[in-house]
Amino acid sequence: MTAPMPPGLPAQIHPLVRAFLSGPGGAREVVARFGSPAHLVFPQVFADNLDRLRAVLEARRARYRICYAHKVNHSRAFVRTAEHAGIGIDVASAQELASARGAGFACARIEVTGPKGEDFLRALAATGSAINVDNVWELGRVAELAGGRAPIPVLVRVCGIPGTPVSRFGVPLDRVDEVFEVLTARRDRIAFRGFAFHIDSGEPGERLRAVEACLELTERAYAHGLAPAVLNIGGGFRQVFTADAAAFDAYVIALRESLLGRGEPMAWGGNTFGFHLDGGAVHGTPVFHKYANTVPADRMLADLLDAGLEAHGGRSFAQVAAENLLEVWLEPGKALVDHAGITVARVEFVKETADGSVLVNLDLSRDTVTPADQEVMVDPLLVPAAEPADPAPLGVYLAGRLCLERDLITNHKVWLPHRPRPGDLVVFPNTGAYHMDLSAARAAMHALPPKLAVWHEDGAGFRVCPDELYEPRAELSAEGASVPGHGVH
Ligand SMILES: *Cc1c(COP(=O)(O)O)cnc(C)c1O
Repeated sequence: MTAPMPPGLPAQIHPLVRAFLSGPGGAREVVARFGSPAHLVFPQVFADNLDRLRAVLEARRARYRICYAHKVNHSRAFVRTAEHAGIGIDVASAQELASARGAGFACARIEVTGPKGEDFLRALAATGSAINVDNVWELGRVAELAGGRAPIPVLVRVCGIPGTPVSRFGVPLDRVDEVFEVLTARRDRIAFRGFAFHIDSGEPGERLRAVEACLELTERAYAHGLAPAVLNIGGGFRQVFTADAAAFDAYVIALRESLLGRGEPMAWGGNTFGFHLDGGAVHGTPVFHKYANTVPADRMLADLLDAGLEAHGGRSFAQVAAENLLEVWLEPGKALVDHAGITVARVEFVKETADGSVLVNLDLSRDTVTPADQEVMVDPLLVPAAEPADPAPLGVYLAGRLCLERDLITNHKVWLPHRPRPGDLVVFPNTGAYHMDLSAARAAMHALPPKLAVWHEDGAGFRVCPDELYEPRAELSAEGASVPGHGVH
């Protein structure tokens, strides 16, 4: 009889990243060279993701512009890759703007989103970058700041579309009359490009309703004598973390059972992950539900473009956009960096707590690998320093290095293939989107982990250099930064 498999959350891993990790050296070589912990980014995976989104748009002969949403990761290597690939970039701060400019983006390829204060608007007025305005005040200030210069290209973000989630961003639909007033009165100063939305949820129906609302607004704009030529559908295209949806579901079932006191405990410190326990049952949607997604971003985009629009005789969004000569703009962030980043940490020690739980203590903290403190539901990979004598799966919690009770990297139990030992490495998969850069604090004065770019070169195997030195054309890569003896397997 074989023992039952412990619950697991296997991660999807890009073949290039897998080849890097399973080759000689791999994570261990990088840590020996650059220290632990470290964030690794794979610009070629970014380029791969971009190709897939482009293929969807090109198959439909859409006019389009992809603006990489910079805020998903600070990496210069990703920004350089976006620039090299000829796409646009979406920046949301003066620092992101400087990063984009520094990586070679001309202002005409930069779109500025997010809430902008007075100083940022002043700085933007002379650049010629498209300003995606958040509110009527911003729109008014843009018109004033334009002065005697060329009209400023402007998109207007809207919200409050029936059937879409509440948002703090954008102009509510029922206030759009004020927008039309400013746009028509200030044609000399504002070059109105079109309407925009951005919806965070992965719900296809919500995005479709927003498209319909923006098409209606576009028609109203024509009636006002304006000439919008863009419809900006924002980002929010989802990632696929799990390699095995059935295993994910089985894990969640086991977790729910454990919350009711059945089977092995699977939650640290009384955590319920957003579930409600009530009368011997578990209700609600867990905070980590996005990790269950199995629909890739390119399919989400294809489905949206192919969706029939009721108000347009059932013609698809792609057709309606083409007939109206509308350029579809997208602002993908996480979809472009999906599987293009990992984080490596080292096991410092393993200990038992009073309740018998096993804590694997690592040399990084929770905020280094979690997005806005969400629970990350994919198993890390254990890279042992030496093969274990007697491998037997062990359920553990991964603990961070801060002396704060809450610094648990996983509040859910993770089954590792065997008990780790000090010096083993732990690899967190798919940390490129928000996980590695959104909330990393510097509590306890630890330095931020270095960020390294990893790429594969035909004939030379995998190479590694500091993120800021990466160049998309491999021959321009930093001399001598290669990981020796490292091939694809
Ligand atoms: C954050 C953001 C994006 C990117 O979102 P993803 O979910 O990472 O694709 C795009 N547009 C705007 C306006 C944003 O704020």
